[in-house]
Amino acid sequence: MNNIIDGKLVRDLKIEELKNKVNKLQDKLTLVVISVGDDEASRVYVSQKEKFALKIGYNFKNLHFDEIDESELIKEIEKLNKDSSITGIIVQLPLPEYLDKNKIINSVSPSKDVDGLTNNNFLKLIKKEECIIPCTPKGIISLLDYYKVDLQKRIVIVGRSELVGLPLFHLLLHRNATITLCHSKTNNLKEITKDADILIVAVGKKGLITKDMIKTGVVIIDVGINRADGKIYGDVSEDCFEKASLMTPVPGGVGPMTVISLMENVYLAYEKGLKNESR
Ligand code: NAP
Repeated sequence: MNNIIDGKLVRDLKIEELKNKVNKLQDKLTLVVISVGDDEASRVYVSQKEKFALKIGYNFKNLHFDEIDESELIKEIEKLNKDSSITGIIVQLPLPEYLDKNKIINSVSPSKDVDGLTNNNFLKLIKKEECIIPCTPKGIISLLDYYKVDLQKRIVIVGRSELVGLPLFHLLLHRNATITLCHSKTNNLKEITKDADILIVAVGKKGLITKDMIKTGVVIIDVGINRADGKIYGDVSEDCFEKASLMTPVPGGVGPMTVISLMENVYLAYEKGLKNESR
């Protein structure tokens, strides 16, 4: 199939670009991932982040707690905020339910928030100010740009999470797209998705989007990761490749772009830090 959007290919090109920039630095950048509890998928994601951080030439630290008090965790984050040897901080999600996710994420200094999830960075994103952009939406835009997809089109996003759908809505709006943002309460999803020139699906339901819900020639970005019978599936059924002009596979589409976008954000946080120092 020649209509595959190859996330691994774009990721690898971006790795080389970033490695070249990082190699030229005198400073060694450090990414810290804070994790709490025992989530199996999180362990895999943390080790992926470590693998790519080391590949780029960053230091990597995983600060893991089996269990920790909310106030203790915030103190740990504040220590990292003040530590000038730390470039970027991520709080690995999901956090155990007894912790207030918003409070903890927002205790990360916005200038080290390489996931782009603090209220401060989100507000700047909406207002089109310089900020750190959440990794998955950033990766999706990079992918669409690499494949020279015109964004001034009718775009339908399914899923309105703070992690993916909502920031993506604003980023695409800044690029003059005409967007419909759908969610679990949307009626007649099929009528809306059928109209899309570009369809982006971030829900977490295997095969939610079927061939009869799309128009011929659509560009599809499938963000979903669904584990079933030992395999990983997207939110879009595979036979949609037959009608799409371009489509991301799962795995191998958006996932690789998320991790490289994170690595780019670490570099950006370093650059922004330098700028602030020189003020
Ligand atoms: P989330 O926070 O659970 O949000 C899911 C969204 O889907 C919500 O807005 C929900 O609507 C909507 N939704 C649920 N059922 C729906 C339905 N039947 N029709 C239309 N919309 C529906 O999930 P997330 O964090 O955004 O992640 C979404 C998926 O992307 C997951 O599979 C996740 O693993 C994957 N993901 C992949 C990457 C990657 O790098 N590849 C990164 C992040 C996430 P309401 O708001 O009304 O509840």
